[in-house]
Amino acid sequence: MEKLEQLYEGKAKKVFMTDDPELLIVSYKDDATAFNGLKKGTIAGKGVINNRMSNLLMQLLERSGVPTHFVEELNERETVVKRVSIVPLEVIIRNIAAGSFSKRYGVPEGVVFDEPTIEFSYKNDELGDPLMNSYHALALKLATREEIETIKAYAFKVDEVLKSFWAECGVTLVDFKLEFGRLADGTIVLADEISPDTCRLWDSETGEKLDKDRFRRDMGGVEDAYAEVMGRLLKNL
Ligand code: UDP
Repeated sequence: MEKLEQLYEGKAKKVFMTDDPELLIVSYKDDATAFNGLKKGTIAGKGVINNRMSNLLMQLLERSGVPTHFVEELNERETVVKRVSIVPLEVIIRNIAAGSFSKRYGVPEGVVFDEPTIEFSYKNDELGDPLMNSYHALALKLATREEIETIKAYAFKVDEVLKSFWAECGVTLVDFKLEFGRLADGTIVLADEISPDTCRLWDSETGEKLDKDRFRRDMGGVEDAYAEVMGRLLKNL
């Protein structure tokens, strides 16, 4: 596998071409952004943790019947993934009220839902990733009706699998964001990453935040929190 020219640089990752047109290499950075890029910083060692954690969780999900883009971890920051065209929807599942949900509906953080919720945002930085429902996504031709049904089913399955895995680690999965992509033949697979950048993870005993909210809210202890959840994951694999 040869790493060729850079295709794209995002906020937290770089993506490179390879000699196989169906495979890409993702390289995880320590750069962190929040509030649609308004807040910028670095979290030392984050790229290494997010690469490893995302790969381990994607393999767990594959074993549970959720297809993903994961192919092979190359080194501590780089992974081979299947080339997909990203469905421009951020898919958010919530088990407990927090963040924008708490703000939008005036619900205190920590209120536990009877059933998980799902919501979509239009992945569009210029527009600030506006919230949308599945009819809006259909109207804008972001995905077909069938694709949206597949994405919803996979997203709830991811929640089930990860909620119980994190519970074994003494961590509560509050909410998370997923992105899906289409392979060349149209198959929908889970893409992007699953990490403390994209999930809210709270210590089950103390409620301590072990995720990117520590960066967003200037709480300190960001690096330690990422290392803590990674350590617990490795102990419970
Ligand atoms: N999230 C993300 N990327 C985004 C927006 C949200 O990974 O661009 C994740 C976030 O980390 C949290 C969940 O999705 O785990 C729900 O985020 P929320 O809508 O509450 O927005 P936030 O408060 O993070 O702005």
